[in-house]
Amino acid sequence: MKIAVVGAGVIGATVAARLAQRGAQVTLLDQASAGSGTTSTSYAWVNSNGKEPPAYYQLNLAGLEAHTRMSPTDESGWLGLGGHIEFAVDDHHRDNLAARISRLKAWNYGVEEITPDQAKTLLPDIELPEGVQLIAHYTREGYAYPAKYLAHMLGEARDAGAVIRTGTTVSGFNADDDKVEVQLADGTSLPVQKVVSAVGRWTRPFAALAGASVPVREFAEPGDIVVGYLAVTNPVPVRLSRLITSPWLNVRPAGGGRLMLQALDLDITADPRNVPGPDSELAQIFLERLRSLLANTEDAKIQEILVGQRVMPEDGRTIVGPAPEAPWLYVVATHSGVTLAPYLGEAIAAEIFGEKQEAFEEFRIERFLTDSTYGQPYAPRKPGEQ
Ligand SMILES: Cc1cc2nc3c(=O)[nH]c(=O)nc-3n(C[C@H](O)[C@H](O)[C@H](O)COP(=O)(O)OP(=O)(O)OC[C@H]3O[C@@H](n4cnc5c(N)ncnc54)[C@H](O)[C@@H]3O)c2cc1C
Repeated sequence: MKIAVVGAGVIGATVAARLAQRGAQVTLLDQASAGSGTTSTSYAWVNSNGKEPPAYYQLNLAGLEAHTRMSPTDESGWLGLGGHIEFAVDDHHRDNLAARISRLKAWNYGVEEITPDQAKTLLPDIELPEGVQLIAHYTREGYAYPAKYLAHMLGEARDAGAVIRTGTTVSGFNADDDKVEVQLADGTSLPVQKVVSAVGRWTRPFAALAGASVPVREFAEPGDIVVGYLAVTNPVPVRLSRLITSPWLNVRPAGGGRLMLQALDLDITADPRNVPGPDSELAQIFLERLRSLLANTEDAKIQEILVGQRVMPEDGRTIVGPAPEAPWLYVVATHSGVTLAPYLGEAIAAEIFGEKQEAFEEFRIERFLTDSTYGQPYAPRKPGEQ
């Protein structure tokens, strides 16, 4: 079977590798360079923490488990598996966290309530604020380095015979019953039997090229649910080997002593057309929050601020399956794509080879034809959510 996989982010690269390993003749195409889309601007927390309903929790749990199983334990590994600590200071966050802990405990997720002293042991440089009400330790969660993950998957794809073509834009299709001509912007075309759309935030216009309607949000204005800041520091002498979620700042290691920072309340001004610099007022706010959270950060600097654009289906949940209007087009579009990629890649390849995935049934495109939540605003994010 000849298959074009369009989009070489974490999702497309994994699908391409798994299809090629099953014997498909795969061409992986990207309009720019591999990993240059949302994959290059991700907090990349690997988790199934605040995920609901249960089917969506199970999908993300399968992603977390697949990462843990697949990531090599040597230098080529992409996963930091030191767990995650979340602490709540105000009543609202405490109640939300308490409910989440009890739900996740019932599902054997790997979460425990810990004392401030235990938190100090796990996070030796933490400055816990006065009035901390509740602290959770998620023992199995971690963070990924998306570029390392991508390198691994592109390598597996190539080793299995996939052809990777970057700088190649798909501009249209010519389809009949059993074959599809994928039209490329350079005027050439590629004959295949199937196309996998893994184009992330470009899904809506891309699917329209095939006459299909797939409701994935596009950036409209600053502060949209789809946009978010990430700030990366210089290397700092801080002991940190796990993720922290606090009411005003989320922090994770970013390699070589750098830290990656995220503060969801600041996202209100995020605009990909206007990215603040390392000396901006926003950078100063990130630094002040960091200094109040971790010791030894007084000389920290922001090296770069990024504005990421999430891949956000209208109802916030994964979309996976053939497009009803064009069954030769298999569509995958999802937030939390870093967490989900290793699991989804395998399961999508299995489904394309005829093994229907029960776990995907709640995530088909068809739900938008009947679901009354379609088109309604997605609930705002809270501390601890992505
Ligand atoms: C601020 C932020 C924080 C996040 N935090 C987390 C987190 O903590 N945990 C987590 O799991 N996830 C997180 N995510 C989400 C995660 O990063 C994404 O879901 C994931 O990276 C999406 O990968 P993708 O492969 O679907 O899309 P992308 O990486 O965007 O890849 C799509 C590719 O398609 C290509 N393309 C588009 N159109 C065409 C065309 N016509 N022809 C050829 N190529 C085309 C693009 O060039 C692009 O490279 C976060 C995202 C953001 C923005």
